[in-house]
Amino acid sequence: MADLDVDALQRWLRAFAASIAEQQDDLTALDAAIGDADHGANMHRGMTAVVDALPTTPVGPAALLKQTGMVLIRTVGGTSGPLYGTLFLRMASAAGDETTLAPETFAKAWRAGVEGLVARGKAELGDKTLYDALGPAVDALDASLADGESLAAALRAASAAADRGRDATTPMVARKGRASYLGERSAGHQDPGATSAALLVAAAATAVSEGA
Ligand code: ADP
Ligand code: MG
Repeated sequence: MADLDVDALQRWLRAFAASIAEQQDDLTALDAAIGDADHGANMHRGMTAVVDALPTTPVGPAALLKQTGMVLIRTVGGTSGPLYGTLFLRMASAAGDETTLAPETFAKAWRAGVEGLVARGKAELGDKTLYDALGPAVDALDASLADGESLAAALRAASAAADRGRDATTPMVARKGRASYLGERSAGHQDPGATSAALLVAAAATAVSEGA
């Protein structure tokens, strides 16, 4: 089973930046409905900075993930910036000093990242947040790898789970973040953060299948 190298991680970050750029206006429209209409701009600013900062000299996975987290914390702003930043910083710690990440190591790093995000944001499933896409995604990733699937197949399963999780946010009443100020009126709108999070998982699936 192929390991993930720094090139694959860079493809992931570039693919995520590209889909954020493409869907920036849609993300902002979602945030306009239940927030303050900046999620698309926040994420686009952050991921542009991440891609601009991608190292030209070789570094290991942990250094790349750590730099990504720090750039996101510095540039995204809002509630989502520190949460996405924490996700990548925790992934970096879990990656340790490996030069390539075995699928199980990558999955463990993802889980550590999502746990860090939850520890920081205190979201539970059903709160209408990033976690509603990311939680099901890491569960699907682990389950597929445990079934003996390839990393590419497991990431496709994770992406499908993230999409379902994103879609499931529509009827939810927000209990965290700005959208929670709307109470019941937040129901009937897809969560912007869960939408960008599903793009992050989809980008990983794209990056790994392209590299295979
Ligand atoms: P802000 O709300 O500060 O304007 P953004 O618009 O960039 O920040 O991000 C909003 C998204 O942040 C929401 O759609 C939601 O998914 C996510 N979010 C808000 N609070 C939390 C939290 N406590 N845990 C996880 N995600 C959260
Ligand atoms: Mg906002």
